[in-house]
Amino acid sequence: MAQIRFNALKEALNRKPVEVDEYDRRSNLFGKNVFNGNTMRQYLTKEAYQGVMSAIEHGTKIDRKIAGQVAAAMKDWALSKNVTHYTHWFQPLTGATAEKHDAFFETIGNGMAIEKFEGAQLVQQEPDASSFPNGGIRNTFEARGYTAWDPTSPAFIYGTTLCIPTIFVSYTGEALDNKTPLLRALTAVDKAATAVCKYFDKNVKKVSASLGWEQEYFLIDKSLANSRPDIQLTGRTLLGHSPAKGQQLDDHYFGSIPSRAINYMRDLEVECMLLGIPVKTRHNEVAPNQFELAPIFEEANLAVDHNSLLMDVMGRVASRHNLKVLLHEKPFAGVNGSGKHNNWSLSTDTGVNLLGPGKTPMSNLQFLTFFINTIKAVYENEELLRAAIASASNDHRLGANEAPPAIISVFIGEQLTAVLNELESVTNGKLSPKEKTDLKLNVVGKIPDVLLDNTDRNRTSPFAFTGNKFEFRAVGSTANCAVPMTVLNTIVAKQLKEFKIEVDALIKKKDLKKDEAIFNVLREYIKASKPVLFEGNGYGEEWTKEAKKRGLSNNKTTPEALKAQISKKAIDLYEEMEVMTAVEIEARHEIELEEYTKRIQIEGRVLGDIARNHVIPTAVRYQNTLIKNVKGLKEIFEQDYREIAHEQIELVKEISLHIAEINSKINAMVEERKKANKLEGQKAAEAYCNKVKPYFDEIRYHCDKLEIMIDDELWTLTKYREMLFTR
Ligand code: ADP
Ligand code: MG
Repeated sequence: MAQIRFNALKEALNRKPVEVDEYDRRSNLFGKNVFNGNTMRQYLTKEAYQGVMSAIEHGTKIDRKIAGQVAAAMKDWALSKNVTHYTHWFQPLTGATAEKHDAFFETIGNGMAIEKFEGAQLVQQEPDASSFPNGGIRNTFEARGYTAWDPTSPAFIYGTTLCIPTIFVSYTGEALDNKTPLLRALTAVDKAATAVCKYFDKNVKKVSASLGWEQEYFLIDKSLANSRPDIQLTGRTLLGHSPAKGQQLDDHYFGSIPSRAINYMRDLEVECMLLGIPVKTRHNEVAPNQFELAPIFEEANLAVDHNSLLMDVMGRVASRHNLKVLLHEKPFAGVNGSGKHNNWSLSTDTGVNLLGPGKTPMSNLQFLTFFINTIKAVYENEELLRAAIASASNDHRLGANEAPPAIISVFIGEQLTAVLNELESVTNGKLSPKEKTDLKLNVVGKIPDVLLDNTDRNRTSPFAFTGNKFEFRAVGSTANCAVPMTVLNTIVAKQLKEFKIEVDALIKKKDLKKDEAIFNVLREYIKASKPVLFEGNGYGEEWTKEAKKRGLSNNKTTPEALKAQISKKAIDLYEEMEVMTAVEIEARHEIELEEYTKRIQIEGRVLGDIARNHVIPTAVRYQNTLIKNVKGLKEIFEQDYREIAHEQIELVKEISLHIAEINSKINAMVEERKKANKLEGQKAAEAYCNKVKPYFDEIRYHCDKLEIMIDDELWTLTKYREMLFTR
């Protein structure tokens, strides 16, 4: 058998599960490596502790003196845990996390050294920004950018490094990362939602967005993964024939977790506990060797940091178990891809989940207010939400016959649909006492406080209400959650702000009572946002037609979807809500387009290489064997050989046909790439999407045909069956 594949298989088959020592119970491990409230209480003076807490809770500034005290405390704590280095930890627009380690160690002359870490180093650093994507923001002569401490996300120790979560901005102040706009969006939603909450409870001073992500991933043997150049370079397989058995028996979903995988999960969970990531759920997913991990939800900024950190940790822990984590949205054709559901809600500092039905009519009216405003926000900005989840890899899921579709719609379930229908017929203007009582007792008052069982059944909806939160399901597994969370919180903030203005106007100008005004505005919102509500099968052909009639967008590809980011409407929205400036928006748009182009470009190159360096030579080798066989048969059977060697001769011809197709299609693809490379921005991305990418499937088709014809012993590329079913 071909050497690489053979060796990889041999290694994979000989693996034993790597033992994991859970040395303490989880609750004891939790947050041990985090500079959290508990640790701060121990290490900080009362003054410094209150300074940090106030920054976390009220966004107040931390002065230099306090920063100095915090830095000293962090250093002492870190040194007590054998930490040698510190780093500002940030999320540049590459989608990954970035860090540059500096030692605490410092020489002080006379051959002496100390450990040093001061306020200034905690608060700000100036990494060279020139190697990170900046979308033209940075002037070439000014390469500096700076990172600034985000006290709302606690510092943590990973390995022997103290990591300090920071934002990353250009020297001229523009955001160059995913965290900065997220923090601004969270501030915007806090402000708008708190103002609306005051209609219901004057004591509410702050509203926070919460996020609970569900991370799906594939886990395959490291040697098998490394034997595939496509996985190594693109994170997915670019070719490979489907195995005879895939996921059709549904025998993997929620099945018993294979032992190598479970040990990996336990190891990963221990790391997560130490880092304060509250992971809770683990299970097998639908596709073979596909799994899911989900935490208890947290404040959105912290949850985003935790997911980014997790994706990094997942890869490192996998390596210890001789496994490779594939976070790609579609690593294998023919079986399910991976997503990252973003469960989202808003809650008050008084402990109320604003998207959870309450026990009284008034609390339910508050729930309906936030519920309906969210639906309206999604309706008004469906294209922007779609853009927030667009990427080359997520295109394989959205609109590609796999859930969810590229059309954004909202599922709310039967009970709430009925409630909205009732509210739609509320009288215009003042309500009679009877109508008011009726609404309170029979409509709003009748919403059960547990809605969980009637929702969540429709798995095809990209944005579903699941009882006490919305679940944005179209997010891809590689995504940085900050991006969809920034959009969602910004659009909801804008919507709530508008709602407040409209309600106040009705109270003032039409002399309506507060609840009358709220009912009146909600009625109009329900009517207006109807087109976005959809309870049916999101995968069906019917829905595509229906959605078009309703005027919903269906942007199937990234280049198409991203356009919404730079529409006048989007720019006005971000500027009004002070989330991003036009310059920042355009820079991001440019970066995302370029990333798309580069990813497809790399895939094209890798596919061309594999097809030429692996597939064609193997096919020729096998063809030679056949030719030799035919020649032998001719020698023995003389004139009768044509009949006897008939099948072999057909195979020889067929192989030649496939080789010719592969070769000519690669040539054609290369020509298209050359043309595309002369273009820029939107045009380049479109050319890669519409001219280059279509060749991928065509080339793959012939490669996959050869795979099932050719002697298994000769085939060099590790097969789907081997990657998906080796445990
Ligand atoms: P599933 O969707 O798998 O049925 P659940 O609905 O129980 O599971 O929860 C899924 C995720 O939703 C979990 O990560 C959970 O922490 C999160 N979640 C639950 N409540 C909220 C909330 N109020 N805000 C944000 N996320 C939440
Ligand atoms: Mg879920």
